[in-house]
Amino acid sequence: MVFSFEDLCLHPALMKAVEQMGFEQPTPIQQAAIPFLLEGRNVVAQAQTGTGKTAAFALPMLHHLLAEESQPFDGRVRALVLAPTRELAIQVAEATSRMGKNSPVRVMAVYGGQSYDIQKRQLKRGVEVVVGTPGRLLDLIRQGVLDLSQVQYLVLDEADEMLEMGFIEDVETILSEVSENRQTALFSATMPAPVRKLADRYLNDPAEIAINPTRLTVADTEQLYIRVREENKQAALIRFLEAEEVKSALIFARTKARAQELADALIQAGYPAEALHGDLSQARRETVLNRFRRHNITLLVATDVAARGLDIENVSHVFNYDAPGDPEDYVHRIGRTGRAGRKGIAITFFNSRDVRVKLKAIEAYTRQPLKETAPPSREEILAKRDERFIERLSEQIGKGSISDSFTARERALIARLTSSAFDLVDIAAAAIQLARAGESELPAESLVEPAETRPARKSKRQRMEAEQAPAAGYSKKGEKRSGEKRSWDRPAKGDRRKAVPPSGGFGRQETGMIRLKMNLGEVHGLRPGDVVGAIASEVGIPGRAIGDITIRKNFTLVDVAEKHVMQVLAHSTGQYSLRGKPVMLKLAH
Ligand code: AMP
Repeated sequence: MVFSFEDLCLHPALMKAVEQMGFEQPTPIQQAAIPFLLEGRNVVAQAQTGTGKTAAFALPMLHHLLAEESQPFDGRVRALVLAPTRELAIQVAEATSRMGKNSPVRVMAVYGGQSYDIQKRQLKRGVEVVVGTPGRLLDLIRQGVLDLSQVQYLVLDEADEMLEMGFIEDVETILSEVSENRQTALFSATMPAPVRKLADRYLNDPAEIAINPTRLTVADTEQLYIRVREENKQAALIRFLEAEEVKSALIFARTKARAQELADALIQAGYPAEALHGDLSQARRETVLNRFRRHNITLLVATDVAARGLDIENVSHVFNYDAPGDPEDYVHRIGRTGRAGRKGIAITFFNSRDVRVKLKAIEAYTRQPLKETAPPSREEILAKRDERFIERLSEQIGKGSISDSFTARERALIARLTSSAFDLVDIAAAAIQLARAGESELPAESLVEPAETRPARKSKRQRMEAEQAPAAGYSKKGEKRSGEKRSWDRPAKGDRRKAVPPSGGFGRQETGMIRLKMNLGEVHGLRPGDVVGAIASEVGIPGRAIGDITIRKNFTLVDVAEKHVMQVLAHSTGQYSLRGKPVMLKLAH
């Protein structure tokens, strides 16, 4: 039977919070567990994260605390939740706090890694609900700062995980500290024998509930991440878009402005993209969505809010351009790919700050490791471009349109060229060069350094030790990574896909000129006259098409007339030399 929150008759302060949190109807686990817990029954529930289990135990717990008017809020701990990891403890404490925000109930998380002093001070000030990991809880009990004698509500959250992590003895010791008259709820994703035994031993006559596990993350999704500096994100994304078979991708950005900005930049770089965010009118949103569904556009840049509840599935890629705000958003975001037996790819971009906090939280929440990767290298991208070119050319050759009558003019040109003693292969090579002159070349300096392989994921024991360790916690043991070292060294501004909109116009020095950077400079003995002469004659453009020249120690800046830039770039990738060194030109930043 489906019923509403009203039917549960929760304390008004909780009803208000439920409404504020936007919960419309209790989830199945809430429907099954809350009535028993409100009655005062013990409960053994099999339910995974993502089913709404936190509210299933926290709402009745808070209801009891608030409903029993005889209870003074004197700061003595009346409810205790045991959680296996610090991430879960924090998450549960936060969720419980939110549910109790319209009441005087104080909630605190207690976990290894945080300073004892902070926790002791907070305990002294008084809290009604403590959510903690067994190791740290036990420490505080032993130090005499945590008194559990008044605890009436006890929850064992993710009991299977706690036992698997070797916390059984700690859990049992803590249980012995709590009055036998308490009410106990045990939540576990699975019910292996040790959990069963624990339940039988410590929970008197419990109501048993099992909720079919919902699929939390998509088994068919390959979950990858990269570390990338903010200023390199666009270039990194474009590299993936170039090298991956992206049929349709959802790209998540943190804010409306960022979503719009990114969509604009992608369009400028030649990708069919649109933004979806709250500033768009309903009609516009519909149009954008329909275009995406019909594959008129392949890239949809969205905010979490705009994408929520949308019927968009089966995208080949999800890019978390900005890492999600919390692990639940991550699950919602990547749930859009890898459906219906098709393998999807989710790539999350972390900056060095996010990687420390958010990656851990996501992995803890989904219980799945993310694999570190790096944006495709220049070589990979060039190889992909060649492949695509061959495909296009083969298609063209294969088409009926290549028959004599349709290509008479081209054939006549070939005849003219061969008669002036050009070799057929040379003609083809030159033609390919011209045909691909507009194709972007990624400048070398924005290449990512090769990704080191990520240190092996910690074993449960190691995680447990880290959980109990003092502040340094996660940065210990092989986990200490120099995020900066692996980040991209230079900004992506030189990335031509991004930098040169189809109309040109980047790095303009004077009207109609674009600034290029040459790999040679003062140390190579360069003089301005050399530069003009070499480029003009080698590329075949008039000397006046070359403007200002600034020779620096290791490089030279050359202004070139906009209409000749593509030609200069295409012909200056080492084909000719100056002072004995091959000349390479690219767009200057
Ligand atoms: P949990 O399984 O407790 O981690 O909850 C998973 C997510 O479901 C959290 O984001 C909760 O805020 C959300 N949630 C819990 N109960 C409800 C509900 N009745 N309606 C909508 N969302 C809910």
